[in-house]
Amino acid sequence: MKRAVFPGTFDPITIGHVDIIRRALPLFDEIVIGVGRNNDKTHLFELDTRLNWIREIFKNEPKISVDHYPGLTVDFARYKNAQCILRGLRSVTDFEYEFQISQVNKALNPEIETCFIMATPAFTPISSKIVRDLIIKGGDYKPFVPDEVRV
Ligand code: ADP
Repeated sequence: MKRAVFPGTFDPITIGHVDIIRRALPLFDEIVIGVGRNNDKTHLFELDTRLNWIREIFKNEPKISVDHYPGLTVDFARYKNAQCILRGLRSVTDFEYEFQISQVNKALNPEIETCFIMATPAFTPISSKIVRDLIIKGGDYKPFVPDEVRV
């Protein structure tokens, strides 16, 4: 069983996240979307709201499940019996950060690999942070999120 976890804060989930998940689906038997806590970020949306949106988006996809975790992503991956941590890469800035984290994760648990999927060019500028800014300032956020995300 090839299982990956896709960790993130998903505050909120965007069409960029969904694109990475859907493209990764043929590569794995199961993908567990893990909503983690990022100590550097304050959330706009409650954990339950974020989880419910993700569940709704993937309700017809039996290979995808959703859970949340309070601690380290490698511990979550081990708990889920996943061999892979899946991440998306949009830019060199993403790369610098992801490279460092993946090396630390490798040191913490050498059995778990981090796998990267490059962002689809049209989705490269999309981030949860930009969507949050649009929501807070009354901009049209809808083109950047799945239909299920409505505030
Ligand atoms: P984190 O809080 O860990 O940065 P995010 O919820 O922002 O998590 O994102 C989770 C993962 O999705 C990260 O690997 C991030 O690089 C990736 N990602 C976010 N937005 C996009 C996008 N538009 N295209 C591709 N990957 C993306």
